[in-house]
Amino acid sequence: VELELVRLNNFLVEAPDLCVECEDHPVWAASSLGILKTAELYSFIVSNAGATLRITKLLWLKHVPPKVQLFGWFSWKGRIKTREFLQRLGVICENDSTVCVFCNSESESLNHVLIWCPFVWNIWTEMLKWWDVQSALPCTVESLLLWWAGGKLKKKERLIWGAIPLAVMWSVWRCRNECVFRATPPNLEDICELIKIRIAFWVNPYLRDFQFSVQDFGTNLRQIRRCLGGVGAMD
Ligand SMILES: [Zn+2]
Repeated sequence: VELELVRLNNFLVEAPDLCVECEDHPVWAASSLGILKTAELYSFIVSNAGATLRITKLLWLKHVPPKVQLFGWFSWKGRIKTREFLQRLGVICENDSTVCVFCNSESESLNHVLIWCPFVWNIWTEMLKWWDVQSALPCTVESLLLWWAGGKLKKKERLIWGAIPLAVMWSVWRCRNECVFRATPPNLEDICELIKIRIAFWVNPYLRDFQFSVQDFGTNLRQIRRCLGGVGAMD
């Protein structure tokens, strides 16, 4: 307690003098002018967090609904309320099961439920097939998003490709909640269909000169990509 008092005292000694004529106002100490500006906040975070602050371009896509972007951000930060996460917080008792609702065999961690649970892995595989690409996928949210952001694509084509991870993760999480709270059994075909529909609805308004139907997205992606100037190749 004494130590705290000393610290408080020192802190108050350094504080600016109170002045009756001056209006009280907050001061942003990390900025030279004392005013909070986004650019200064950004450089403050970068200088403090340094190289550990990694971010992927795929989180804040303007054509993806804000709530989905936010969900992506929470996934990136590992803050999704999976059963393992809730147990760590003490919301779920230690003796309660944290088993994944899809496979009923492994514990529901973030990377398990969003990426490498066998059921979810099949969804990712279907999405790669849809895009006509063969690749081994990274198996954490972070590495998958970083991997996904690489590769060369035409700008308009990239609108579709870039939206896939968030569409998958968002749809998987919703499906998981339906499973947990309404006991709705998951269906691979349905969820893949839903993901493509979502992407079509998100992307279509940004492809002004083109008219693609939702069905086109489901069955004719190759054609769409060709129309958008894509070469249909991805290294
Ligand atoms: Zn599972």
